Amino acid sequence: MEDLIRIFLADKNFEGTRDFEPTSDMRLMIAAQACLLILGLDYAYYDDVGSIIISPTIIRQRGSRQLDGGIVSDDPIALAGQAVLHGPVLIVWDTVANESRDPRRGHNVVFHEFAHKLDMRDGTVDGIPPMSAELAGRWASVIRSVLARLRSGDHDGLRSYGATNPAELLAVATEAFFETPDRLQTSEPELYVLLSKFYQQDPAARRLGPG
Ligand SMILES: [Zn+2]
Repeated sequence: MEDLIRIFLADKNFEGTRDFEPTSDMRLMIAAQACLLILGLDYAYYDDVGSIIISPTIIRQRGSRQLDGGIVSDDPIALAGQAVLHGPVLIVWDTVANESRDPRRGHNVVFHEFAHKLDMRDGTVDGIPPMSAELAGRWASVIRSVLARLRSGDHDGLRSYGATNPAELLAVATEAFFETPDRLQTSEPELYVLLSKFYQQDPAARRLGPG
C-alpha cells in the first residue's frame, strides 16, 4: 500500500482549481484512498489517470450538463467530483475531509470517481470494468437484478444514486464495498462476491480480522 501511494504521488499530477494550492496532506489522503482500490490489482489500472484536480469546496455548475461524450458527472448542481474519460479526476477537498471522518456512512467521493476511472479503462463507461469474459457475463446479470431492486426502492445496502445507470451502480457499489462491506455482503452477497473477484480484496473479512 505504501509503495502504491509513493508511486501515485510521484507519478500523478496534482493541481488545484484557480489559485488553490493543495497541501501535501490533501494529496496524501486522496492518493491513499485511490490506491486502496488497486491494492489487489496492478498500478497500470491507473495509467489513464494523468491529473487529479482538487477544488477546496463544492463546485456549482450552471444549467444542465451533458452526460455523454465520456463524461460522468454526479449531481446536476453541486459537484463533489467528476471523472473524465481519458482525462482528469476532479475531487472536492471539503467532501473528502467530511466523508473521511466517518467511513461507516458509505460515502466516499474518491472511491466513487476512481471506480469510474477503472470502468473507463476499457474505453467505455458501462459499469463493467476490465475483467474476464466469464466474470463480465455474471456481472451483467447481477447488475441487472441489483438495479431493479434499487429502482423499486427496496434496498438498504446501497445508495439510491446507484440506480441512475450501471456506471453509477459500480461507483456506488465500490463505495459500499470498501466502507460498509459487511452490510453489502449481507444485502447483496452475489454483488459482493463479484466485487471481491474484480478488486481481489475481501474488505468484510479484513474488518472481522484480528484487531
Ligand atoms: Zn458517479
